[in-house]
Amino acid sequence: MSNPLEEFLIKQIGLHGPMSIDQFMSVALGHPEYGYYMKQDPLGRGGDFITAPEVSQMFGEMLGAWVADVWVQMGSPEKFTFLECGPGRGTLMADMMRAAKGVPGFHEACAVHLLETSLALKEKQAQSLKDYAPAWHDTLESVPDDVPVICVGNEFLDALPVRQFEKTEDGWCERVIAHEDGAFVFARRAQQENPVLIPERARKKARPGDVCEVGAAAASFMQNLCALLKATSGAALFVDYGHEKSAPGDTLQAVHRHEYCDVLEHIGDADLTAHVDFDVLADICFDSQMNVQGPVEQARFLKALGIVQRAEKLSAAADARQKADIGLALQRLTDADQMGSLFKVMGISYGAGLNPAGF
Ligand code: SAH
Repeated sequence: MSNPLEEFLIKQIGLHGPMSIDQFMSVALGHPEYGYYMKQDPLGRGGDFITAPEVSQMFGEMLGAWVADVWVQMGSPEKFTFLECGPGRGTLMADMMRAAKGVPGFHEACAVHLLETSLALKEKQAQSLKDYAPAWHDTLESVPDDVPVICVGNEFLDALPVRQFEKTEDGWCERVIAHEDGAFVFARRAQQENPVLIPERARKKARPGDVCEVGAAAASFMQNLCALLKATSGAALFVDYGHEKSAPGDTLQAVHRHEYCDVLEHIGDADLTAHVDFDVLADICFDSQMNVQGPVEQARFLKALGIVQRAEKLSAAADARQKADIGLALQRLTDADQMGSLFKVMGISYGAGLNPAGF
């Protein structure tokens, strides 16, 4: 039995032919009624995956310190926009705001803005962030550009759709999703145009059989964000899993109830992500005359901001069980075989006056 989202996809493929991977991701994640992010809160133990802010408050505290420091470096402007992209349950924003509370004037100057498309998650954010009266946006276009913007995004870029191209003996093909004999299958569509979209470094390395990814949605998001940061002399910080240098590789993955599953299984009920190509995004920033910090591994960033000392401080006031939890959370966020290495942190800022911490 197909679910309603699968029925929708079958109809679309019937009408228009096989579907590119980015179209598939957009529908599977963002269909207004049946999309994965639209109908549920996917985070936490009862959901499909756990993110760093859900692991421990320490993550948000470190990012809050980064934001407060940037704001002070900006000269403590009287008003600024604190924008979070893809805020999930609002946990990260709540922790960052709490951490920055001690910085005189920060809360008074700050207007919280959230870039979010999921109705289910907007409801959660409205609850967890009610003290800060946030404003929501579906795209960057409506974010005010008359005061400095400080922007943060954790596991946001990886949710943006990618296209995939495969090198074959006969040239490049686009990977697409077809529906044959009652099942969704991957197929190839010959690529007429020169694959200029493929990052050059990956294209040069690719051999027949290799897949290269193109994060067109992340690229256009980054272009728009750079324009906003430039207009407002702002800064941004992104944390995500990805690679520092473009390379061939199929990184599209599906996660359902904390387990990896086939991308074509549990459609609309599994999270779909692709690794972020920081190489390409950094180039876009450079082209827009931005300064780029990193990317560095998450462990290095969090340690530079003092997460080990913070864990010690929290432990000093904790009972034995809480101490153990704090230790485990610290490991989870910083150990190389957990989130410490795969996750990268990249900073972006405009103007010579800013030297964001942690890099
Ligand atoms: N940052 C949170 C949640 C990460 S999950 C955390 O770390 O816990 C990805 C988030 O991005 C969700 O809030 C999802 O609804 C949002 N999102 C996904 N695609 C989006 C898009 N195109 N525009 C805005 N938000 C999006």
